[in-house]
Amino acid sequence: MNKDNKLETELDSTENQVSSTPSSLAAGRPFSQFDLPPALLDGLNEAGYEFCTPIQEKAIPLALEGRDVAGQAQTGTGKTAAYLVPIFARLMAQEQPQKGMPSVLIVAPTRELAVQILKDAQTLGKNLDLTMVAVFGGVDYGKQANALRNGADLVVGTPGRLIDYAKQGIFKTSAIRYLVVDEADRLFDMGFVADLRWILRRLPKYDRRQSMLFSATLGYRVLELTYEFMNLPEKVSMDKDVVLAEQAEQELYHCSRSEKVNLLLGILNREKWTRVLIFVNTRFGAERVAFKLVNNGFPAEGISGLLNQRRRLRLLEKFKSGELKILVATNVAARGLHIDDVSHVINYDVPADPEDYVHRVGRTARAGATGKAITLCCDQYATHLPYIEELLGDKVPVAWADDELFVHDQAPDYRPPRRKEPVKPRRGSNTGRPGSKRSGSKRGSPKSGARTSRDSRPAGGEAKAGTKAKRTAPGDKSQSQDASNAAPAQKPRRRRRRRKPAAPGTGSAPGPAPKGSPGS
Ligand code: AMP
Repeated sequence: MNKDNKLETELDSTENQVSSTPSSLAAGRPFSQFDLPPALLDGLNEAGYEFCTPIQEKAIPLALEGRDVAGQAQTGTGKTAAYLVPIFARLMAQEQPQKGMPSVLIVAPTRELAVQILKDAQTLGKNLDLTMVAVFGGVDYGKQANALRNGADLVVGTPGRLIDYAKQGIFKTSAIRYLVVDEADRLFDMGFVADLRWILRRLPKYDRRQSMLFSATLGYRVLELTYEFMNLPEKVSMDKDVVLAEQAEQELYHCSRSEKVNLLLGILNREKWTRVLIFVNTRFGAERVAFKLVNNGFPAEGISGLLNQRRRLRLLEKFKSGELKILVATNVAARGLHIDDVSHVINYDVPADPEDYVHRVGRTARAGATGKAITLCCDQYATHLPYIEELLGDKVPVAWADDELFVHDQAPDYRPPRRKEPVKPRRGSNTGRPGSKRSGSKRGSPKSGARTSRDSRPAGGEAKAGTKAKRTAPGDKSQSQDASNAAPAQKPRRRRRRRKPAAPGTGSAPGPAPKGSPGS
């Protein structure tokens, strides 16, 4: 292990503390009752972790015994500490790990989550003399490679980058004793399952490591993975619906598509908000809603896959630090992010996948704080609502919007900026558009087949702004944003250039004059 607690991260982050929100969730067994090394207990105390959350109370004792654990828990329940605490404790207790070889591997679906896990690990393990590294795509390749070469005890990464480094022999897997697969369902949804299996096959055998998996749902896909790669894991879960219902006040307005901006403005005028996350179903929707808000005097910015990774991280940092008050986001920001003190989550669009509703709403009222989740249910996405209510086992309370709540929109019409390159479909994103990977084929459930004909329409509004949506049947993957899964598109027919008549006296038609040539 390295002498100093050197923590490598690609982000220049000022925030190195896990915020210690006093939490009604964290009301279980005190951490001091576990047999934890004093240095770890100090780290927990400094982060304000005194009592366990329910998932921690269930997972930690099992993991401390060395059992494999498959946990059903969403972000916001304390799942990160549920695996970090026992891993750190066992790592401290065992004989010195192999020098320069990672002992702990945490696989996460998104860069944002990887960064967050690293920060939590840095905070909780601050007195442990461990070297921790995060690797993820989109930013400095060489810097992360050097961090790995210098020797890391704990590596957290997204599958693509991990595979890159493993193939080059920079990331060595032979000494890994602790494996965590975080947000496993999300890894599936994002199309990473083949990559994940590639990595898992290169680790020491399942009985020579301790494996933990956490997922918002333990569906058959995830369970299959646990059977294959884990050592008879103990299943632990916490009731996410209870967490939602207890903490976030929910409210839903029915409205027409054309009035949504006006209603959003009215809600923002009325509510006493401090930090607002607005969720939309499409990337262009994020741009459009942010544009409308800014032009109506609200401090908003849009974050979606249309931005490059650096800009996204910068925006998230701005939002986390409080510099930015309103963030309009696609589902990219819905999972795995620790943004505390979000007073309001607004579903500008009802999500297509009911679980996304749970995740979005879970961004407010985190770790015991109070918060409000407001949903605008328009004609375009209203068909998604019954599936959400089925998952919640309850109706989302409907509120009545009187005329005053619809505020005049002073913004000009939104026109998407011209882009140098055409916008590529993003892997595995859930646009909320019918036919997108998750909405159309949701785990083969009868729900997906039960979509109405409205679902087969191309998305209106934002989606139309920059892309031409195809008319497809529900579940048709060709409309999905998952490029890898998309059916091969028909080649567009080439237009024949009409040849100019040959200049008199020449044998051929004149081509464009070369630059710099006379007359060019
Ligand atoms: P997670 O579910 O791991 O994303 O955790 C969400 C947030 O809950 C963390 O950022 C911590 O601020 C907080 N948290 C987790 N466990 C505890 C705990 N035992 N006591 C206090 N806060 C906690």
